[in-house]
Amino acid sequence: MDFKDYVANVPNFPEPGILFRDISPLMYNGKVYAAATNKIAEYAQQRGTEMIVGPEARGFIVGCPVAYKLGVGFAPARKKGKLPRETVSVTYDLEYGQGELFMQKDAVRPGQKVLVVDDLMATGGTLAATIQLVEQLGGIVVGTAFLIELTELHGRDKISDYDMFTLMQY
Ligand code: 5GP
Repeated sequence: MDFKDYVANVPNFPEPGILFRDISPLMYNGKVYAAATNKIAEYAQQRGTEMIVGPEARGFIVGCPVAYKLGVGFAPARKKGKLPRETVSVTYDLEYGQGELFMQKDAVRPGQKVLVVDDLMATGGTLAATIQLVEQLGGIVVGTAFLIELTELHGRDKISDYDMFTLMQY
């Protein structure tokens, strides 16, 4: 199965000049979604994952089924104003604009082995921010996993200290 057959390439979204990689076709197909989930789950198991963290919103789509498969927890990293209890936060640069992400203070236990997942890595800013949040909480990032890596943006360089698994590269 070529996962790239299930990515829609959308020119000029959300801004002129951006080629958006839309993972919806992959999610819409149960067999392909399960195959992608299984690949990431296999990697997560190898890394000794005890908890999965994913940023809003497509990180939930990738992370939750992997957490279910492994029988571990999932904690979201969310945008401002979404989490009801005490949080830690981080501000970071996006491919287009600036972002701020939050996690609840009890989302990750000190020493817990965490896998950080998202649908796609572009500049690596979102990933670096999510890693920072996990580490603020005392978690140990044992790996990172994505459906898609945009290699031209060299996001890997931002997080070269961490292991990475990607299903597709562009
Ligand atoms: P980064 O922070 O690495 O520059 O951007 C990655 C974040 O932006 C991810 O959370 C991802 O969901 C979103 N993103 C940026 N570009 C794309 C894209 O082309 N396709 C998808 N699906 N997400 C994108």
